Amino acid sequence: MPTKMKAAQISKAGGDWELVERSIPEPGAGQVRVKVEACGICHSDVFVKEGLWPGLQFPRVPGHEIGGRVDALGDRVTEWKQGQRVGVGWHGGHCFVCEQCRRGDFAMCVNRKVTGFDFDGGYAEYMIAPAETLAAIPDELPAAEAGPFMCAGVTVYNALRNSGARGGEVVAVLGIGGLGHLGVQYARQLGFETVALGRGKEKEPLAKKLGAHHYIDSDAADTAAELQKLGGARVILATAPNAKAISALVEGLSANGKLVVPAAPNEPLTISAMSLFLKRRSVAGSYAGTGKDAQETVEFSVLTGVRPMIEKYPLSRVAEAYERMHSGKVRFRAVLTLGV
Ligand SMILES: [Zn+2]
Ligand SMILES: [Zn+2]
Repeated sequence: MPTKMKAAQISKAGGDWELVERSIPEPGAGQVRVKVEACGICHSDVFVKEGLWPGLQFPRVPGHEIGGRVDALGDRVTEWKQGQRVGVGWHGGHCFVCEQCRRGDFAMCVNRKVTGFDFDGGYAEYMIAPAETLAAIPDELPAAEAGPFMCAGVTVYNALRNSGARGGEVVAVLGIGGLGHLGVQYARQLGFETVALGRGKEKEPLAKKLGAHHYIDSDAADTAAELQKLGGARVILATAPNAKAISALVEGLSANGKLVVPAAPNEPLTISAMSLFLKRRSVAGSYAGTGKDAQETVEFSVLTGVRPMIEKYPLSRVAEAYERMHSGKVRFRAVLTLGV
């Protein structure tokens, strides 16, 4: 058994990627050690890279889209087996005792942790995860495809399945990037009349291939008006980080329609209260989900054929992979692969 591992860390706010050798960590009670096989690069890793997350401590190994195997069990872990294939995502654990946890709403735990933010994540050959964060991964799903389900996948799948939309209703997905390309697939597979909202004609063939029934090019048409021609959207999932584009979509909602925001644009949203109350519309946040939610995301994806589109990079090329993501060049998820 080796005692050292390779990891990519950030050691100060705005610092460069550092490839380092670290001791392989030992799991404590209630924790498991995961041998990381793949880890997706998420847009929110910028919070670690630039030191923008409250309370963040350096050095930090980011990464919360992990696919791998249980490598060692800490005390009191009974429900997972050594060698079992697992994923670890954004939700990095909960306390079980706060008011939200006592209610069973673990995702809203007031003491919850974020993987790769509050403790070291998956840009490393091994990582330690609280057992309650794990998602089981079936054999037919490669680790590099499982990883992106742990944050991007569960974020959009949970948002859509909990949105209140029913089969056959119009559901639109804004943005066809890391989140959106999965969102379009889930909307289709959940049985919605699926509308992809993008910029430029050239994204239409991909949107249709992912399952969209309709594509609206915001460069060529008024998106809200086009949605109204379809009767208005019951739900719009806003995955693009553009506050102005998101705000304008409220006018594309049907009566009782809901604009669901699963990620943070840089600017505040600007929304007319009039257009909310006259049509009883709402704007709602959606939070990624727990390990169990991530596991259900994987199960639904395997059942229906939803898959992320990925570019693979070895850990040694982390800086290049991150830059591809950050500059928007990656199609559609950069995934680090480790030792496989
Ligand atoms: Zn993420
Ligand atoms: Zn709690």
